[in-house]
Amino acid sequence: MPLFGQRPPATQSDSSSSIFSFRSNKSTINKAHPSTNQNAGGTIGQLCVVCMVSTARPDSVFCGTTCMTRAQSFGPHLAALQPTHPLYHTITELFGKGWSHDTPIPVIEKIYAVVAPENRHNFYRTYRNYIESKRKLKSKSVKPGNEQWRWHGTYCGCSITTYESRGAICLAPTCSLCGIIRNSYDIAWSGRKWGRYGRGIYTTCTSSKAADYSRTTPSNPLKAVILNDVVVGKGAEIAGDMPNMTEPPSGYDSVLAIPSKRLHRGGAPRGLNYDETVVYNNSAIRPMFIILYLPLPA
Ligand SMILES: [Zn+2]
Ligand SMILES: [Zn+2]
Repeated sequence: MPLFGQRPPATQSDSSSSIFSFRSNKSTINKAHPSTNQNAGGTIGQLCVVCMVSTARPDSVFCGTTCMTRAQSFGPHLAALQPTHPLYHTITELFGKGWSHDTPIPVIEKIYAVVAPENRHNFYRTYRNYIESKRKLKSKSVKPGNEQWRWHGTYCGCSITTYESRGAICLAPTCSLCGIIRNSYDIAWSGRKWGRYGRGIYTTCTSSKAADYSRTTPSNPLKAVILNDVVVGKGAEIAGDMPNMTEPPSGYDSVLAIPSKRLHRGGAPRGLNYDETVVYNNSAIRPMFIILYLPLPA
């Protein structure tokens, strides 16, 4: 079964013990930004967000496990990703490639890494390992558990979406963005208004579709989307609406909603216009980066 929106297999080590399993594709970055991702010393990378002395690993915002552990002990928070960090370019590129709407691709103003306590990552890794052992997906040239990056847009009710923001997260129960940063995703929050594929957590490869759901207070100039690790596993491709689902179809781990454009080639697109990935387990997803962007007028 085809799985759409796959990322290329990582070129770097991807053990569960790697820092947050951050990854990058060096060859893509070097091609796209030949002059910007090397510092004066000729090494790729930027200073670790904790010690600000050692160089962060190319696939992480930390220099090593000591700084990572220290950061995690502060509780969930945001750490600014420097524009010269390889991941900044990888994410910017992904955001641009995923922008399918007719509106101009927004300017990314800031990227924050979500620093979360180790137990959140443990739940995620345990689930990913479980799916991998069940489906043996690594042998199909995908990452363990068919892990993918997916976008999610939500409401930001605080000052994170301003230029003055230093990334301090708020405690307001109405701010969904900070809720996700603090606690990750919780299906229980989906309340009574379920989506077209039922009671799950909705993400997409299409950054512009996630942006449709990114709302903020009118006085804030910026908007935010979240880039997440998602254990897609074996995805069931579904075209029609199934609003009463509370779990994936038997034999599958997620739902991959097919855009109707693909189904009605040549005809008028109807229904769903962009891809969606829906997971039904809180541990199948973790927020990794918060991207602040300036929406541009059409
Ligand atoms: Zn460090
Ligand atoms: Zn907030």
